Amino acid sequence: MKTLNKHAVYPLTLLGMAAILGACLRKDEPPADSHVTTAEEQARLTPDEVLRQFKEGNLRFHSGQITLRNHSEQVRKSAAGQFPKAFVLSCVDSRVPVEDVFDQGIGDVFVGRVAGNFVNEDLLGSMEFACKVAGAKLILVMGHQHCGAVRGAIDDVKLGHLTSLLTNIKPAVALSQDSPGEKTSANSLFMQRVAENNVRLALAKIRSQSPILKEMEDQGKIKIVGAFYRLADGSLDFVE
Ligand SMILES: [Zn+2]
Repeated sequence: MKTLNKHAVYPLTLLGMAAILGACLRKDEPPADSHVTTAEEQARLTPDEVLRQFKEGNLRFHSGQITLRNHSEQVRKSAAGQFPKAFVLSCVDSRVPVEDVFDQGIGDVFVGRVAGNFVNEDLLGSMEFACKVAGAKLILVMGHQHCGAVRGAIDDVKLGHLTSLLTNIKPAVALSQDSPGEKTSANSLFMQRVAENNVRLALAKIRSQSPILKEMEDQGKIKIVGAFYRLADGSLDFVE
């Protein structure tokens, strides 16, 4: 009767198990996405389709199903030109990773960022470039939960250049005085109301101060929408 040589069999068994496990993992893993939006794809997209893609992207993000991307390949493929689908105006907050929030890749989205995500002439110019020149179909203004700039505007913070920056958010504080409870940054409901009204005012300013973007919206060539990002779970509410 043969006896098993434990010293010979044991390492082989471990190696075999590792190989099987590795094969299983590779089989389940989707290949990294290296696709970059092309001019033809951008031209075919409607504003509603882009909004649908961004909503679905956020569902993937906040449910932990974000797309695995080959960024170095996307960098290489997008170097010669860009055909982004949207312009997102966001706060600078480090907890709001814009491309990830919508599960978009390199070349998919123009991003404008300023503390408190308000609109000024430079950002309007950037949006006009994005939509009129570069073909983007959606402008999305995104405020967020626990925004330090909103808190600073409510608390009337005075600090260097921040003082003048916060004047851009003060109109949203004034607009939110009918909110229930105390009108301080300690009231999370009031903080959210101001952040949402800040988004609404940005949308109104885009329409009233950019005849180019207003006309494109009226003609159905672009959509202009607002959203509120929840830091707590990565989800979005769309602001009407
Ligand atoms: Zn913020």
